Parts: sequence; structure tokens; C-alpha cells
Amino acid sequence: MRHDLAADLKAIRAGATVFPDPDPGVRTEYELHEVAEHAIERAIKAEALAWELVAALRRISEILDSATCRCRCGFCEYFNAQKRADKALAKAKEVLGDEA
Ligand SMILES: [Zn+2]
Repeated sequence: MRHDLAADLKAIRAGATVFPDPDPGVRTEYELHEVAEHAIERAIKAEALAWELVAALRRISEILDSATCRCRCGFCEYFNAQKRADKALAKAKEVLGDEA
């Protein structure tokens, strides 16, 4: 089952305890604890992937920095890519915590 996490959260907040399969062709229902377990498993995987992507982006950013001498021209592709990487890394720190 691939539940829509936002929809499940909304249903849980509204007091739902039984959840239909997201595929209308599948006539299975899930208990709250099953939905919660599934959601937490997905969150753990997503968090691990986010850490991996942060490490990769940080490394790419360092390489870009040394290759372009941290270009701050304000318009070239290197500058824009660096700016985007910095923005994403700052957001990762906010979302994943201080170890990011
Ligand atoms: Zn530049």
C-alpha cells in the first residue's frame, strides 16, 4: 500500500481508526496502528535518503566552490547552482536538525 501521508494525517486528526486501501480496486482496510507503522517506516527511509543527499550535495558544492573560486558574479550558471545548493543545505539544516 502506498498511502498519501498528508491525507492519512488529516484523517487521523479527524478521528479515523480504519483506513481503506489507497487503490479503490483493493478491498482491504487497515487499522490505525498499521497505517502509523507504515508512515513511520517511510519517514525513516526518507530521512536516511535526505542525509545521503545532503552529504552528496555538500561534496558537490565544495567541488564547485574550488572549481569556480566561489564565483559571486550573480548571473552565471555556477553562481546559480551554488546559490540553489546553499539554499537547499540551509533548509536541510532547519528540517533535519543541527547535525545536517
Ligand atoms: Zn559567475
